[in-house]
Amino acid sequence: MNDDLIRQSAEIIQGSSKGIAFTGAGISTPSGIPDFRSHDSGLWQSVDAMVVASIWGFRQNPAGFFEWFYPLTELILAAKPNVAHKALAQLEVMGKLQAVITQNIDMLHTRAGSKTIYELHGHLREATCIHCFTVYPAEPIITQFLKDKQVPHCPKCGSVLKPNAILFGEQLPIKQLLASQEAARRSDMVIVVGSSLEVAPASDIPILGKRNGAKLIIINLEPTPLDSMADVVIHENAALALPAILSCLESTSI
Ligand code: NAD
Ligand code: ZN
Repeated sequence: MNDDLIRQSAEIIQGSSKGIAFTGAGISTPSGIPDFRSHDSGLWQSVDAMVVASIWGFRQNPAGFFEWFYPLTELILAAKPNVAHKALAQLEVMGKLQAVITQNIDMLHTRAGSKTIYELHGHLREATCIHCFTVYPAEPIITQFLKDKQVPHCPKCGSVLKPNAILFGEQLPIKQLLASQEAARRSDMVIVVGSSLEVAPASDIPILGKRNGAKLIIINLEPTPLDSMADVVIHENAALALPAILSCLESTSI
């Protein structure tokens, strides 16, 4: 771990009061949920996820989608928030972060105690019928699906139920997107954690913050396209880097 980078990040966070965190699948890999793009995760490799996890793929072949989704669902349900999720919740309590903006559907920020969370790619709390659009709580549907591996159907009209996760080709939830953009515009610090920043328009959020004068900290194992515009870049496991930043912040040394 590079102590200088940890200290520089802590100094930026120390001086901020309207920060935002922008998180991706990498913050949840220490909780046992693989990301999509890391080479050994397997989620992209087994099938063409751009097809199977798209709204067109879902409508054409719901069974194919659910087969692909099964292991991810199982891991998400078993996962617990890790020290990186908890560090962000703590930064909110300390008055440093005004919101967590996430691309994750695993709901671990909520379970870690963060209060203001914008889930840009949806979540697994609900599922919606693709025909009559009735919304159902997802828990019993997911529990049943993990038992029988059958495609879930709408009790009202018999059509297929889709988890409220945003698939490729779907619009982002507009209220969440607008609130995220507003928080980014107001922010004085953006901390990116575990995102390849390759999925737009969500990846535009850190750029929006930076353009409006915010300091940009990126914590990601691999380089990202925004590294060159960041104030601090830490290529490190977020579950090590974030607690280190937090303890530096809590110590009296800065
Ligand atoms: P991504 O898979 O594109 O990138 C993840 C990035 O995190 C990679 O660049 C990787 O180097 C980095 N990383 C992995 N483990 C890390 C760690 N411990 N510490 C620091 N960095 C780490 O993920 P993305 O940018 O979030 O976008 C992919 C899409 O996949 C999103 O739409 C998201 O909804 C979805 N997804 C969500 C989950 C989840 O909810 N947990 C899991 C997989 C995919
Ligand atoms: Zn229906």
